[in-house]
Amino acid sequence: MSRRDFLATTVVATASVWLMPRRLFAAAGESPVVTIRNAAATAKISVTKLRGNVSVLEGSGGNIAVLTGRDGKLLVDAGIPGTRAGIIEALTSLSNDPVKHLINTHWHFDHTDGNEWLHSIGAEITGHENTRRHLSETTRVEDWNFTFPAAPASALPTKVLTNDETLHLNGAMLGLKYYPPAHTDSDISIEFTDADIIHVADTFWNGHFPFIDYSTGGSIDGMIRAAEANVARVSDKTIVIPGHGPIGNKSQLIEFRDMLVAIREKVAALKKQGKSRDEVVAAKPTADYDAKWGGFVIDGNFFTKLVYKGVE
Ligand SMILES: [Zn+2]
Repeated sequence: MSRRDFLATTVVATASVWLMPRRLFAAAGESPVVTIRNAAATAKISVTKLRGNVSVLEGSGGNIAVLTGRDGKLLVDAGIPGTRAGIIEALTSLSNDPVKHLINTHWHFDHTDGNEWLHSIGAEITGHENTRRHLSETTRVEDWNFTFPAAPASALPTKVLTNDETLHLNGAMLGLKYYPPAHTDSDISIEFTDADIIHVADTFWNGHFPFIDYSTGGSIDGMIRAAEANVARVSDKTIVIPGHGPIGNKSQLIEFRDMLVAIREKVAALKKQGKSRDEVVAAKPTADYDAKWGGFVIDGNFFTKLVYKGVE
């Protein structure tokens, strides 16, 4: 091996340690929920300073934004408890402020499983009223083939968002804004106004086909509306934190929106011809997109089924 090859290999190996497994798929018959929870138990947590006093932790389910300061740390999303030790280490590396605030971007397990332990160390939990409702009761997600039991009372949001809200914390202004049903019926974005950073929940998976949760109000058309709203809302300078995938920007939001629209059109046209779901999957409407978008949890066939469900 030449020295150059050796260096290239080393760089790739180092980089992969910091990323979620590039390919993460459920074994046959296994719910993706189980796959993701198990993967989190061994995942490395990376911490990246973004701008101002905002950072992001990656590797524990959904991306976690952190705002530090004398009012106590604010976390956007709670990750998965299997990575608790890694999260604590990452948070401690940022500052000594205790964790005081947690906002859930939506009700899904990979964003809320950590609610209970974060509450136990002092975090007050904020979420949309539908996040609280879904966590409060037994909820079946058909396309994950998984039934979630009601969460313990200490894991529920106690500050419930019914209208858009502005918070002032740690010298920063935060805007919390509800999306009409998109990925679920509980999605909210959190904007760090001064730093020009926005966490857009699971309305954006950067470089991955997204999951769409029809069991709790999601739909492909809602996803496209949210993607349009995200594109309209940010500037070229805005740092965009997706629910999943690397930190992004406006051009990646546009690429994601365009991918959703193109696949929706293809699937809708095939369904109009009277094709069954399996026939549409066999026609491979995502073929042009699979190499770029199909490498994480949701592959092209799974995504085709999710889109098929929502078109006429
Ligand atoms: Zn989600």
